Amino acid sequence: MEPLHVLLDHYARAFDTLKKQKYHLIGFHSAVKKCYWVHKALTERMFCYKAKFYGIESHRCIQFSPSLLWCWNYCLHCWRYRPKDRGEDVWFNFPDVVDDPKFLVEMAIKEHRRTVSGYKMYPGVDRRMYEEAMNPKHVAISLTGEPTLYPRLGELIREFHKRGITTFLVTRGVRPEVLANLDEEPTQLYISIEAWDEESYQRFNNPISPVLWRKTLETLELLPSFTSPTVVRITLVRSFNMHEKAVEEWAKLLRIAQPTFIEVKAYMHVGGSITRLSRDDMPSHVEVKKFAMMLAERLGYNVVSESIPSRVVLLSTLDKPVIRYGNPPVTWDTPDRGDEFSGEYGNPEEAT
Ligand code: SF4
Repeated sequence: MEPLHVLLDHYARAFDTLKKQKYHLIGFHSAVKKCYWVHKALTERMFCYKAKFYGIESHRCIQFSPSLLWCWNYCLHCWRYRPKDRGEDVWFNFPDVVDDPKFLVEMAIKEHRRTVSGYKMYPGVDRRMYEEAMNPKHVAISLTGEPTLYPRLGELIREFHKRGITTFLVTRGVRPEVLANLDEEPTQLYISIEAWDEESYQRFNNPISPVLWRKTLETLELLPSFTSPTVVRITLVRSFNMHEKAVEEWAKLLRIAQPTFIEVKAYMHVGGSITRLSRDDMPSHVEVKKFAMMLAERLGYNVVSESIPSRVVLLSTLDKPVIRYGNPPVTWDTPDRGDEFSGEYGNPEEAT
């Protein structure tokens, strides 16, 4: 373990960088950051793809992480700030000081309100939408880091639910035992994968331990036991996983996981990932759709929706949009406003 003065120096530099990137730091290990789509919803009434797919009211959504800098993977496509990129190899032991879930939820709501308070007088912002934005209804427990490293995750989820806030928990699935023993299930559980076998996982997701691919498989096996809807999100990277073999292996894994939804999404060439992958690795929406259809065919899933601005296609066993967490003016078959450059892929720097 590094001497305390070295650790504190790492912390100070990391938190400094995050503040410059407009993260609102909370306590010892958490933060809120205004999502690109909160701005787009309030100023242009353009909603994120999760509004279309699941009824998320983007302008009322908190983007939050309880594990800001701590993760057990170093994925090549990760665009978030990671001290490891500066050669600091200390960020996998979650700190001993663990913040209380109630405190984190109260602060997350307060910081979200601070991020949207400036829209009160913003030209063209609808007054009702502004008031709704000040009254958050959803939280995406994703943002950065691995949320299952936070030891009181189930309590945190419960505290959000107590306040009528839905929870999307996004994890790499490296801690099945944590997911299996959550005090309370999230509203919707996301597992992110890019690899299709152990070798590709070691190469692309750089786990800190050799057991993490097996742990990820255990998580996929666990998914059918969840009562809340589950999502497996596959990020496509042109030079890595856009081939038949990957689709074949994913189909085997997904038959075991039986997720309610599968999102097939394009890698975004932005942030720290630009030092590890090339712009050519970012597939077009047409390519994403082709792969999604190949996977749907193998699995017997339906291609039920897509968002061209976010280069993502939704597969499901459902054939109607029955799972809705809010009431945005978009749904599965709402035509997209804009092309594949009108969303975060057209403005990657703004989107991070
Ligand atoms: S954090 Fe996710 S769900 Fe929330 S508004 Fe942004 S893109 Fe949509």
